Amino acid sequence: MVRIRTQREIDIIATSCQIVADTLDMLTEHVIPGARIIDLDERAEAFIRNQGARPAFKGYMGFPATLCVSVDDEVVHGVPNDRVLEEGQIVGIDCGAEKDGYYGDHARTFAIGKVSDDKQKLMDATRESLMRGIAAAKPGNYVSDIGYAIQSYVEKFGYSVVRELVGHGIGSELHEEPQVPNYGQPKQGYKLREGMCIAIEPMINLGVKEVKTDSDGWTIRTADGEASAHFEHTIAITAKGPEILSKGEALRG
Ligand code: MG
Ligand code: MG
Repeated sequence: MVRIRTQREIDIIATSCQIVADTLDMLTEHVIPGARIIDLDERAEAFIRNQGARPAFKGYMGFPATLCVSVDDEVVHGVPNDRVLEEGQIVGIDCGAEKDGYYGDHARTFAIGKVSDDKQKLMDATRESLMRGIAAAKPGNYVSDIGYAIQSYVEKFGYSVVRELVGHGIGSELHEEPQVPNYGQPKQGYKLREGMCIAIEPMINLGVKEVKTDSDGWTIRTADGEASAHFEHTIAITAKGPEILSKGEALRG
């Protein structure tokens, strides 16, 4: 069932989204060469709890941490450990928070120091594909219009779209219906309506679209070992169009 949210509910979802956006803003200066991933995770957890919220991923299906931290060929769901970030890596950080029963979900990919042109362009295209997907999320459009906007943009550069993992409805649960794929043909699936809240999250690979799961049962990585980027926003669909709820400082201007 796809839930339609009241303005009051959207306001609470927006609060949780602001907490995750603030968390990633707070982390930015620490996501540098030499940083230990587990330290980033502890910093994020303390920051979220200090605001009366709860890290949404910790304990979700047994996930052990606050952040998913995915390095280079890791697509998503990397488990924080004592690995140290190195110059030239790109690192996806995905964060969720729950406050007063409602969820926010947001991810960015960070460059660690100077990265290769290939990686920088992949990150830039993935971020832009998210914005194009969001622009397609207006009342009267269909769920697949979002994926079509994302896929048709990134494939122009020769990149590929991960199929196994998708965006999702969000609100009183972290993952709700509908599923929001990052690929597809226009005008298919559920019709978008005012009051829907969804997380749009393109996972875009430099090489092939295929992925595999590590033996830890969590980490998803590209089948060919090439880099992958991931950006995610939680949005509300309003009468005026899509409204990004997880805006960080850069988007708030
Ligand atoms: Mg996420
Ligand atoms: Mg998500």
